[in-house]
Amino acid sequence: MNDLPSAHPPDPVAQRIQLNWQQVRDQVRSATAAAGRPPDSVRIVGVSKYVDAQTTAWLVEAGCHDLGESRPQLLWKKADEMARGDAIRWHMIGHVQTNKIRRLLAYQPLIHSVDSQRVLQAIDTEAQQQGRVIDVLLEVNISGDPTKTGLSPDQLKQLVAGADRPGVRVAGLMAMAGWGTEQAEAAEQFQAVARLRDELQSASGVPLPELSMGMSGDYQAAIAAGATFVRIGSALFEGVR
Ligand SMILES: *Cc1c(COP(=O)(O)O)cnc(C)c1O
Repeated sequence: MNDLPSAHPPDPVAQRIQLNWQQVRDQVRSATAAAGRPPDSVRIVGVSKYVDAQTTAWLVEAGCHDLGESRPQLLWKKADEMARGDAIRWHMIGHVQTNKIRRLLAYQPLIHSVDSQRVLQAIDTEAQQQGRVIDVLLEVNISGDPTKTGLSPDQLKQLVAGADRPGVRVAGLMAMAGWGTEQAEAAEQFQAVARLRDELQSASGVPLPELSMGMSGDYQAAIAAGATFVRIGSALFEGVR
């Protein structure tokens, strides 16, 4: 804006983050084009859980306005420290304990990680009390391993078809390939999530346009399978942390 030219050399951390952001953004664009999808159909959520508020601010400066945190108390602490108001859309991408919901909703986050009926119900109740409508995604357990977080296909069917909830809008699904999953296997899991979404949508008539899947190691496969949000952390902070 009206800032005087700075007497300091550019901050090397800021420069590195800008470079990382441009690379990730370009690769997301290429993957989106390669999948024959419109350029705006995939949004990058910059996962800032690895770094402090100052470093996160450089990422926003570089052009990333969607930020994801995996713990509610770190999301609100950082949001308060950054105080950028409307310039940032916050994404809650980790498990939400019900006792954190009241304070979390004040930031009007998109909650990617609804992993039980109890959490969905608690968000709905609190959102109504606060006069809000909160966008949420339902987290799918793609591995089928019951010790992993996320909902089974049967649970998803029940929740999507469930009662009208005035405080929440279920906008789609979220999934995570397990750590160390082979690329080919991750690609199959993402395709399975997209098919599951199609089935849920046609069985319920509820539109489920959003698919949050893909991280630093596997976002190209996720975009090919139809991801609308990729959640990228490590690739953005390479050389910085
Ligand atoms: C940390 C995290 C990410 C980002 O993972 P990277 O491999 O660092 O890109 C994405 N999604 C969730 C749910 C996370 O917890």
